[in-house]
Amino acid sequence: MRRSRAFIPTTKEVPSDATLPSHQFLIRGGFINQQGAGLYNYLPLGKIVLEKIRSIVKDELDKAGCNEVQLSFVTPMSLWERSGRSDAMGKEMLRIKDRHENEFVLSPTNEEAMVELVKNRVTSYKDLPLNLYQINTKFRDEARPRYGLLRGREFLMKDGYSFHATKEDMVREFDLMEETYKKIFTRLGLDFRVVQADSGAIGGTGSKEFHVLADSGEDTLVVCESCDYGANIETIFESEEEIDALNEKSYEELQSQNIEEKCSCGGKLSFKKGIEVGHIFQLGDRYSSKLEAHFNDENGRAKPFEMATFGIGVSRLIASVIEQNHDENGCIWTKSTAPYLVNIMVSNIKDEAQTELGEELYTKLQDAKVEVIFDDRKERFGFKMKDAELIGFPYTVIIGKELANGLVQIYNRKEKTKVSVPVGEIYEKIMELI
Ligand code: ATP
Ligand code: MG
Repeated sequence: MRRSRAFIPTTKEVPSDATLPSHQFLIRGGFINQQGAGLYNYLPLGKIVLEKIRSIVKDELDKAGCNEVQLSFVTPMSLWERSGRSDAMGKEMLRIKDRHENEFVLSPTNEEAMVELVKNRVTSYKDLPLNLYQINTKFRDEARPRYGLLRGREFLMKDGYSFHATKEDMVREFDLMEETYKKIFTRLGLDFRVVQADSGAIGGTGSKEFHVLADSGEDTLVVCESCDYGANIETIFESEEEIDALNEKSYEELQSQNIEEKCSCGGKLSFKKGIEVGHIFQLGDRYSSKLEAHFNDENGRAKPFEMATFGIGVSRLIASVIEQNHDENGCIWTKSTAPYLVNIMVSNIKDEAQTELGEELYTKLQDAKVEVIFDDRKERFGFKMKDAELIGFPYTVIIGKELANGLVQIYNRKEKTKVSVPVGEIYEKIMELI
């Protein structure tokens, strides 16, 4: 992509409600813009990052044997009435009426619709297990939409649902998904923790959350410093007062606080802040019983499916990468999430030799299928460099004055280092880096 042709409206302006780095930098860097409370447009850079995350999620799920589908975003109210969730979902569920006064819902999640899809189509134990997922828009009329993509009203979620003949098989799939999610978050380059999220029981396996560790996280976690045990404090402290009192504490206060209950491995426990980016849940037959979704077992007896459900906050992940990776100048994308890996910057666009080398390198990298952007704008070097810092390209090739001595520079956004490379070696050096 040529920067002179790209729609990347970077700005110094920050909306007054944007308090977190990811919210500020994603807007200032021209990745997203706000359409309304909790509603965001993805501009070209935001869309590229979203698609990169989506494709990593899809790749790992498909390898683990899951099937991608796409359900209708608008669902009939009758579905929610039959499961009993029309009341339970409360005001978060946005209800609409069509011209015939029929009631519908903008899907906040899709357990009911997925059970309906499988019901009467999967009838025998021989057709099980089955894991279906989609990466699709969700709408939750959050009481307080805030923090940009971290808590929107319209957002993109990967939601998966699995169907099994026995509880044992459901637990096997649950464990497989835990491993698959770990692969996904590792590939995204994130520092994360898997924590117990089931009510009250430390060590239970009913529900697990995946948290990206970041000071701005809304959840408080207890993690062991020696083993991989972790729990959301909601599962450890019984009373809401206790939990509220801990949240209200600053991260520094929490870190210095000693926890009396020790981990079962004997290791020291400490508090961390996390952003929930994934949640996996053993459902059992809760939905299949209510919605009368049955299969025939080996003895020909009709039984409700054993189910599990698996969610990933795909759009929340974009912001989570930045909460974990930024500095005062802007975004620092991980290699697998960067909108472009290499930014070629010609310092003086009027200098023929510089422009020529820029064009040549740009073509060569494009031919090699490297994600490259060429900053060919007639702007000052300082301005373009600030822009590159804000957006956060991992590598910027600076073609400037040193070219007279046969040298160009590669700037590393994360390390904030510049290395000089002879012109003849620049292509190989970039290929080596990425
Ligand atoms: P939270 O506790 O943050 O409100 P949740 O537990 O209600 O989330 P789930 O029902 O578990 O959310 O949904 C699966 C995933 O979808 C979550 O782990 C989270 O990453 C993402 N998600 C949920 N609500 C939002 C939202 N309002 N905006 C962006 N992502 C969201
Ligand atoms: Mg959750």
